[in-house]
Amino acid sequence: MKPPPKNFFSHLSLELGNLFFPPTCSICNAPNTDFLCKHCLGLLQQSCYPHGHFISRFGDLVFCSSRYTKEASLLIASLKYHRNYPAAQWIAKLIYPLLESTIPYSRLQDSVFIPVPLSLQKKFSRGYNQCELMVDVLSRMTGLPKDFQSLKRHTIFVDRDQIGRSRKERENNLSCQFEWVGRKTYPSVLLIDDICTTGKTLFECRQAIQKSNPQCFVQPIVFAHPEG
Ligand SMILES: [Zn+2]
Repeated sequence: MKPPPKNFFSHLSLELGNLFFPPTCSICNAPNTDFLCKHCLGLLQQSCYPHGHFISRFGDLVFCSSRYTKEASLLIASLKYHRNYPAAQWIAKLIYPLLESTIPYSRLQDSVFIPVPLSLQKKFSRGYNQCELMVDVLSRMTGLPKDFQSLKRHTIFVDRDQIGRSRKERENNLSCQFEWVGRKTYPSVLLIDDICTTGKTLFECRQAIQKSNPQCFVQPIVFAHPEG
């Protein structure tokens, strides 16, 4: 009797897995053999952010790939809360054309990717930073370096009296502070986040980077932003 082919058992376990848990689209859950069905991928590709950028409430020019549609929000949520790691690849693939079309090559080749960091508490409870996963893919796609260590986030309470406050009030009472703890300086940083609402986080990150690296050019880049 011939021995089974080399990948026989891995194929068998995949087939059995597919039998009991048929693959579905990560956004709409329709039966599908790919991570996203054609319909959802089409909707994501059509939801390009107008002109690829916006000015945040804090005055930063932010490059943005997608409008914050239902599909974009579900893709982010699947990565952020459901450990659906391949979503990082799809988000990075949607961001990538933006890098090529908006950033001059001379600047791009001097740049380093830095993800917006999570606080230690949040990274510990979630187990990973979804922006680091996105940066891993973008760094592989472009060949540009990445730095996960130099920018740190501290989450502090504005005051200590949280008893009797609603969850929303308690969250509003948090202040995010960032600090550059790295020894290196960079001429250009591509600051990556999954979603931007007001732009406060990106602004605070840029301030922290430029406090220690005044000459550093910081370009915030996000996957999604609610238009208008
Ligand atoms: Zn779908």
